[in-house]
Amino acid sequence: MIYADNAATTRMSPGAVEAMTACMRERWGNPSSLYGFGQDAAEALGSARERVAACIGAQPREILFTSGGSEADNQALLSAAALGERRGKRHIISTAFEHHAVLHTLKKLEQKGFEVELLPVGPLGQVTADQVERAIREDTCLVSVMYANNEIGSVMPVAEIGQVCREKGVLFHTDAVQAAGHLPIDVKAQGIDLLSLSAHKFHGPKGVGALYARKGVALTGLIQGGGQEWGKRAGTENLPAIVGMAAALEESCAHMEENGRKTATLRNQLIAGLSKIPHSALNGDPVHRLPGNVNFCFEGVEGESLLLLLDDLGICASSGSACTSGSLEPSHVLLAIGRPHEVAHGSLRLTLGEDNTQQEVEEILKAVPQVVARLRDMSPLWEDKVEGKRAFLI
Ligand SMILES: *Cc1c(COP(=O)(O)O)cnc(C)c1O
Repeated sequence: MIYADNAATTRMSPGAVEAMTACMRERWGNPSSLYGFGQDAAEALGSARERVAACIGAQPREILFTSGGSEADNQALLSAAALGERRGKRHIISTAFEHHAVLHTLKKLEQKGFEVELLPVGPLGQVTADQVERAIREDTCLVSVMYANNEIGSVMPVAEIGQVCREKGVLFHTDAVQAAGHLPIDVKAQGIDLLSLSAHKFHGPKGVGALYARKGVALTGLIQGGGQEWGKRAGTENLPAIVGMAAALEESCAHMEENGRKTATLRNQLIAGLSKIPHSALNGDPVHRLPGNVNFCFEGVEGESLLLLLDDLGICASSGSACTSGSLEPSHVLLAIGRPHEVAHGSLRLTLGEDNTQQEVEEILKAVPQVVARLRDMSPLWEDKVEGKRAFLI
């Protein structure tokens, strides 16, 4: 099997598995218990918090553990909205191509009377600090712009946006789920007030993540109950997962440069090879791009069919994102960068990681053109285009 869907999830690193199993075997006490055995668990929790904080330039007290990226996104936005509301500020700026954890939360806030402005992201899937600055108003309480897009891999100028927000006194949240462990994060230098991350996108376990909230930014709890996480996230901590996340993040950050270089080399080969397919187009920013992301539209093919045929050849890929597969709607991200519906339906996302090899890339480069050609041969629409009865779109 060739696994090329690292934006959906990643294989757990052996170090993270080891840290988790050791924790389950030996440190299964409740961190809230006062006896020594419970305090051992509390110590492991504190150490994990320190290590996660250190990886993004935060203080341990600024890290809240959550059930993943989605919960962190929900809590960040709802907290910032609550703070805004208290000061009579109900305008929120975000972008059209955020993850659904952000977009659907914003929909809820809209229903509660907030005004949500989604900035257009242009053909490359980019948002500029200038755009953000022009959109900020007196009553803006939050700017939420993702660090890197999960479908097309575009990386946003987060530090510049953070600086604008700081100057204007507006809270800045970034969904850094695709960036954490892959791109450098320094919340202080980048002017970030709230940041979401998720362990399973950097070789940690699923179902655990973290929300960074700058000191002074009060969080609203989504789950009521015990006093864990300073009363901002009730429920006994998932200590093994938290410990596994800390190990995975430390490891990813320690090898970030070499992994990024290796992955980007493979990515570039894949992009160069797939670009040779006629009537294809790369989606996302060719330069400011996640090291492992490859995303193409192939005219005249249907993304789902493409995936199934690649699966037959042992290649795990995705069209859009894992969350939208199974729905017939084309990706909101591809529509946001201006791809027509018909073209957006023919998308393929291949996301590489440091485990992938040169040989795998060569196999993918053999398989995809064949499969695309086969699907086009079967398509009456394609025949019309070839015969000039219909126009090519790309
Ligand atoms: C995966 C992902 C999420 C959701 O994270 P979970 O831990 O799966 O809830 C949020 N935002 C982005 C950009 C993602 O890629």
